[in-house]
Amino acid sequence: MTASMPILSWVNHRIAPDICHSSRFAFLAALLLPLCLPWPQGGLLLVPVGLCLRWLGAERAGVYVCVGGLLAGYWGCLWADWQIPSECYRSEVAVAGQVVSFIRELPRPSGPPGQSFILELQGAVPGCGSPRRLAVFAAKDTPDRKTGNLLTLRGRLRPPPGQWSPGAIPEQARWLARGVHGRISVTDLQVVDAGVGPLSALRLRLAQGLAGLDGNRRSLGVLQALVLGEGGAIARTDWQRFRRLGISHAFVISGLHLGLVFIGSWWLNRRLFLCCCPLAAVHRDWAVVPAALLAFAYAALAGFSLPTQRALVMIVLAAVTRLLGWKTPGAHLLLVAALLIIATDYYAVLGSSFWLSVVATAVLLSVAALRAGPLSPINSNWLLKGLLIQLLLLLLMAPLNLFWFGQLSLAAIIANLVIVPLLSLLLIPLALLGTLITVLADAPDNAAWSMAQYAASWGLRGIEIVDRRVPDWAIIRSSLTAPANADDPVLAVLDVAQGLAVVMQHSDQVWVYDTGDAPLQGRTQAEKILLPYLRKRGVRAVSLQIISHPDRDHAGGLGIVADRLPIARRLGSGGESCRAGQVLYDRDQVTLTVLNGPGLDNSSSCVLMWRYGQFRLLLAGDIDAHRERELIQYWREQVQADVLVVAHHGSNTSTSRSFLKWVKPGAGIISSGLANRFGHPHPAVLGRLRERGVEIFNTALSGTVRVFPESESAEIIALRSGNIPYWLGLP
Ligand SMILES: [Zn+2]
Repeated sequence: MTASMPILSWVNHRIAPDICHSSRFAFLAALLLPLCLPWPQGGLLLVPVGLCLRWLGAERAGVYVCVGGLLAGYWGCLWADWQIPSECYRSEVAVAGQVVSFIRELPRPSGPPGQSFILELQGAVPGCGSPRRLAVFAAKDTPDRKTGNLLTLRGRLRPPPGQWSPGAIPEQARWLARGVHGRISVTDLQVVDAGVGPLSALRLRLAQGLAGLDGNRRSLGVLQALVLGEGGAIARTDWQRFRRLGISHAFVISGLHLGLVFIGSWWLNRRLFLCCCPLAAVHRDWAVVPAALLAFAYAALAGFSLPTQRALVMIVLAAVTRLLGWKTPGAHLLLVAALLIIATDYYAVLGSSFWLSVVATAVLLSVAALRAGPLSPINSNWLLKGLLIQLLLLLLMAPLNLFWFGQLSLAAIIANLVIVPLLSLLLIPLALLGTLITVLADAPDNAAWSMAQYAASWGLRGIEIVDRRVPDWAIIRSSLTAPANADDPVLAVLDVAQGLAVVMQHSDQVWVYDTGDAPLQGRTQAEKILLPYLRKRGVRAVSLQIISHPDRDHAGGLGIVADRLPIARRLGSGGESCRAGQVLYDRDQVTLTVLNGPGLDNSSSCVLMWRYGQFRLLLAGDIDAHRERELIQYWREQVQADVLVVAHHGSNTSTSRSFLKWVKPGAGIISSGLANRFGHPHPAVLGRLRERGVEIFNTALSGTVRVFPESESAEIIALRSGNIPYWLGLP
């Protein structure tokens, strides 16, 4: 009792007044609430609310609500300007702008690799909105270009991906948080100004220096990520391991890294000030200035990416308050910094990096600023301080990892315990020392970089070993979304962009039909959409996996799913052949029958009929009109279905009039990618479906579509329907 009293009084007098200050929270609420509204300018509705609050006597809170609402409304208007109207999808446009990222190589199935980079536009795209930044995809044979170059280019304009599925963070949130508002595939490109500016030139020099070093490419990729913020340099398999172990945040320059550099250099500077210049002891707070400058230089090396800008805001605030001698508690500082960031970079809150940065910087700054209170004895002991930072990082990062990445490995605790000290005490200091030597002496082949590369290579090896030995029980899955009643049958056509993945569930049975695409670069659709959906539904094993045919847009996630979940039985690619007439399941009113096989190519796709009582659903794979005719001749009335998962993503080679006449669907679900290059679904197919009065769902527009069958009919729910937050809508 007596021991807890000082803690309580400390919380009461130091922390509570700041956290509970109503006006700051009114501002935060007025900024964030409009993100839940269906109208972009919804924030303006809060202005009258603020005026009412003022009228009722809450003067300060009223002003804050007005200002917050106006700011949110302003950002909503900007968002509306950034949108690319649907009539501009895939139309050819000319744009001009500056390359603001490194050029990244994109492997292709055939021919030379392509390249991708981010272009900051100078002005609007005539008739197609005012996106500020575009992700550019170009063939390599167009003129050579570098970060900092001014370009003019022509190409096909596309919106950012709009994938949205239960259990996964919507793709729109990721792209908005990164500040990229569209994509363009280049047909013609000209470099207008090949000048790159001093900062870009320095970054290019360092990137070339690192790329020119001998040794393991994977560890050089890690160094490039830690020195220049170039996450794309890390191998895809390494990223997969980092994500599984919950340590990916450690390899993206963010609040954690800048905070570590700031705190480390601050600590060192104070020691230097004290021993080299005893008179300076009275001004030792000035040690914070070179520390903040070093953090600024590190952010510059990372190209002032958005996460580093946010971390800088917090560091500058911490430095200024320290210099002014304000006794500002960490919580207060954090809230003010978070408000500043949200007001100036509003959509940052939709990305994981904002939250991870805020928490990491807050922990580091709060512990570094410990001067009073019950934890003050820790102040003088750097080992205890280090342990406290680790403990707080673990405790606070765990829920964030669970929310943003859907799972947390218990191994993450051990991995973080090793990785964070390894990074802060060894890898980052060595990498930055090597960078300094390269900048000053133009000697990339220096000992510091060699040692850093050696350490990175050992670290990667350790991570590989730990990852291989993590047992399944050590994975905590997100319980933020409780699974629905597992006994009710449910079918979901997942929004896996251009491709197909369907999950059927009944009682303890889980059937997965196709696994979506696996692009040559980046995550597979199985990792992005299918596995998070299964996780959300509480699925721990797949009873039956059917791959309709081996095309990549259907079978791309085969290996990943098999890696993550036990699969009791496989049909199609990598399993038994589909045999027409085979009954795969027949129990509790549910029947699953194969209508077409063997599943070797489009026309021989495994076609399934799923029956629940009188309700019937037909999964048509990628069959063509010719095979549709054969199915009708063989199965006659038995092809009739209430819901048709339309063949071949709505291609005009399928879904013939005669097939629709026999199937008689009430609803048709098309799985296609937003503004895909094949032009799926074909307008003629949509016309034929409409002719028969079929209700059409397209995953590209609706997000994941779920079917909840009852014995005679079904309820079909599209994710993107009703009043959804405006930023999740499509033009
Ligand atoms: Zn396909």
